[in-house]
Amino acid sequence: MSRDVHTLDLLFLGTERIIATGVLPVEGGVALVDPGPSSTLPALEGGLAALGLGLEDVCALVLTHIHLDHAGATGTLVRRLGVPVWVHETGARHLARPERLIASATRLYGSLMDVLWGAFEAVPPDALRPLAGGETIEVGGRALDVAYTPGHAVHHVSYYDRETSTAFVGDAVGMAAPPSGRVLPVTPPPDIDLEAWTGSLDRIAAWAPARLFRTHWGLSTSPDANLEAFRTTLGDWTRRVLAGIDAGDDPAQAAAFSDRVLDALEADIGQDAAAPYRGFLYPDASWHGLARALRADRTSE
Ligand SMILES: [Zn+2]
Repeated sequence: MSRDVHTLDLLFLGTERIIATGVLPVEGGVALVDPGPSSTLPALEGGLAALGLGLEDVCALVLTHIHLDHAGATGTLVRRLGVPVWVHETGARHLARPERLIASATRLYGSLMDVLWGAFEAVPPDALRPLAGGETIEVGGRALDVAYTPGHAVHHVSYYDRETSTAFVGDAVGMAAPPSGRVLPVTPPPDIDLEAWTGSLDRIAAWAPARLFRTHWGLSTSPDANLEAFRTTLGDWTRRVLAGIDAGDDPAQAAAFSDRVLDALEADIGQDAAAPYRGFLYPDASWHGLARALRADRTSE
């Protein structure tokens, strides 16, 4: 197995290119960057098998943040494999005691929680390796630089693998929508922080990575274009939400925004390619996340 990063498709809800895990070869096996939810554990095992690996070859978990689509399987994997988990210190507290995280996700996903994500088990505290950002960690002999990259989540970090010049950016630069060059922000409540996000993008750009690894979805070999497309769309979405938040009737505003985003995407990449985004992107939730952030900015001014 080469030392390069492998992209493992978790085939979320049977759909390709929605959630990816980064497989990083290290001494004694592989580290997984964002192992995904429990609902995709069979696909994770299948993807590892295709690389000639088994779950027992996983020797570390490296998390960008703890949202269910990135980290839901963490507790289950740690209980089975006894591996360490690198995660931002705020995220580490929630992994050890996931009750609040589960309650907040249940408010968003309701009765779909189990179908979408599967179980979310607590992580034994002694497995946790809390991060602040700014440090360099060593994972199986491989050095990863850590940057604190809030914006999408207050506990979001990104990692830079110097050996392959790859930045693992989680949700910090949005979601790809191939074959278009579009990059779709993911901005659900409650953590969205636009000012912090700008700083996060600057920290990622400062690594001058040759590639970005996005959980949604995979490697980008044109980081500058990706960052630029993300900044542009986030700015556009922010202006649109700002123009609507004084009109009243948030649910109607959010629904109209969602329709516009998904219709534009469909016009761009076609109905079939756009279909999975209707089930995963939740632009209405992103409207609420941005509205909440913009209103909080106002009251603090
Ligand atoms: Zn995500």
